[in-house]
Amino acid sequence: MQALWLENHQLDLREVPEPAQPGEALIRIRKAGICSTDLELVKGYYPFRGIPGHEFIGEVVSADDRAWVGQRVVSDINITCGSCEQCLGGRSSHCENRTVLGINNRDGTFAEFTTLPIANLHRVPASVPDEMAVFAEPLAAALEIQQQVHIQPSERVLVIGSGRLGQLIAQTLVLTGCDLHVVARYEHQKKILVERGIRIVSEEDVQPWRWDIVVEATGSPSGFSLARQAIRPRGMLVLKSTYKGELSVNFSSIVVDEITIVGSRCGPFEPALRLMENGYVDPSVLIAAEFKLDEALQAFERAAQPGVLKVLVSP
Ligand SMILES: [Zn+2]
Ligand SMILES: [Zn+2]
Repeated sequence: MQALWLENHQLDLREVPEPAQPGEALIRIRKAGICSTDLELVKGYYPFRGIPGHEFIGEVVSADDRAWVGQRVVSDINITCGSCEQCLGGRSSHCENRTVLGINNRDGTFAEFTTLPIANLHRVPASVPDEMAVFAEPLAAALEIQQQVHIQPSERVLVIGSGRLGQLIAQTLVLTGCDLHVVARYEHQKKILVERGIRIVSEEDVQPWRWDIVVEATGSPSGFSLARQAIRPRGMLVLKSTYKGELSVNFSSIVVDEITIVGSRCGPFEPALRLMENGYVDPSVLIAAEFKLDEALQAFERAAQPGVLKVLVSP
């Protein structure tokens, strides 16, 4: 089959054997999305060799349990052991022996096919089209914030960053009824937010020491420092992006202001699918471009341009 291959910071298209993993479902990829993590893998921020890609919607071609064959599915990206202390403690996304689809020790979805354990799969409701379902993984990640933090409708919440993930975070947080503002830089990103009734604020107008909850979704030191200034004493700072290298932080001020810092990663798929099914969230407004798999190199170039939202690749 055709696949995008990453090795030594270099992407190329190549023919690879069709995957076959005993006990796992064979899935034909319908669409896959490029996320910032994929771009960082290419830059070499994490060691990875193989087929990247972890955001997708696919169709089960074969599985031990025949009931899954023909189903449109999305998938949890952490493939877990079920027997380590984290798994047994109900923290399976932190499995000590996990592989991660297209990120860590497991080929991903910029290919014609992939394989995954049935236990990871979620059926996509018929009314959710592919161009929405392909966002299930990052939408689930956005919802992880609400799994971790209780957001009261009376609270002032600031989201810093209106890129691929920031947009989904904004679409989900606005549903809580909180007083939500989003720091947005690019005009087209502002427009998408405003059209959904989400308020935007410029960096200069962010009042310091006033926000109950700040979500940092830029993964940049300047985003972190804006978040740090914005948060009120005893406020909650949610970190939703990884940082390249190490961040220099004044932890004394975090002690003095009694700030709670919450790291936040993968989230629940079923609520993500429900929100798309009942129309409360529409991630498809983020789609900037769609390429065929044999144009995947152009797709990555496009996705790496500043401010570009979601670029899709379909075999
Ligand atoms: Zn991602
Ligand atoms: Zn485990």
